Amino acid sequence: MRIPIIAGNWKMHKTVTEAVDFVNQVKDQLPPADQLQTALAAPTLCLVPMVQAAAGSPLKLMAENCYCKDAGAYTGETSPYALYQAGIHHVLLGHSERRKYFHEDDDLINQKVGAALRNGLCPIVCCDDTMARRIAADDQIHWAVNRILADLKGLSTEDICKVTVAYEPSWAIGSGQSADPNQAEEGCYLIRQTISDMYGEDVANNVRVLYGGSVTPENTGAMMAQADIDGVLVGTDSLDSRTFLEIVNH
Ligand code: 13P
Repeated sequence: MRIPIIAGNWKMHKTVTEAVDFVNQVKDQLPPADQLQTALAAPTLCLVPMVQAAAGSPLKLMAENCYCKDAGAYTGETSPYALYQAGIHHVLLGHSERRKYFHEDDDLINQKVGAALRNGLCPIVCCDDTMARRIAADDQIHWAVNRILADLKGLSTEDICKVTVAYEPSWAIGSGQSADPNQAEEGCYLIRQTISDMYGEDVANNVRVLYGGSVTPENTGAMMAQADIDGVLVGTDSLDSRTFLEIVNH
């Protein structure tokens, strides 16, 4: 059974104090993790105090990125080993903002996926999709398939089951224009089919696929009712604790 997930992605928002206040506001109002998992991806600086504030609650904390090496002379990067040791067990990888502003390509993301798994972190791998590709429908299909083939190649069956994939159309991110639930389902279905082609149907049926892009309290229910959508990855509407709880309680 795939337990649904609602995850926030704060991007480069919030100070340590604001982050800890947020955790204290939500932590006693979250559902048990065996029914619905809740997680927040937060700036690196905020993660350790958030882990401490969330202790004993179902809330999971996620890094927004990590490097593809365990440790070494890589100034400014974050070690997946150090994240795991600090109690952070999930990491977002390949977000479209990382690809666009920091020129991360599929090869690097595949290496990061391997490094995360090697160190005990569960990756949430983001797969984007542009409006131009959506209009040229065939190209869109090849694009998403190629992303998944490249980002998730070479994993063991045990490891692929620890991966979550988030389908996030670039045109829906931060635009206020979410995909409609059918479009979102189409993207998530395509991702699951690609995983099925790579690792078999049983594995694909265990991998969780999320939708992200202008998710709100109003559209969460319709997204999560789709057969291949196991949850949502929420940017803007995860920044306010009341709105985040409305999404959790959709
Ligand atoms: P928005 O919810 O602000 O569109 O951001 C989505 C996103 O990028 C989540 O990773």
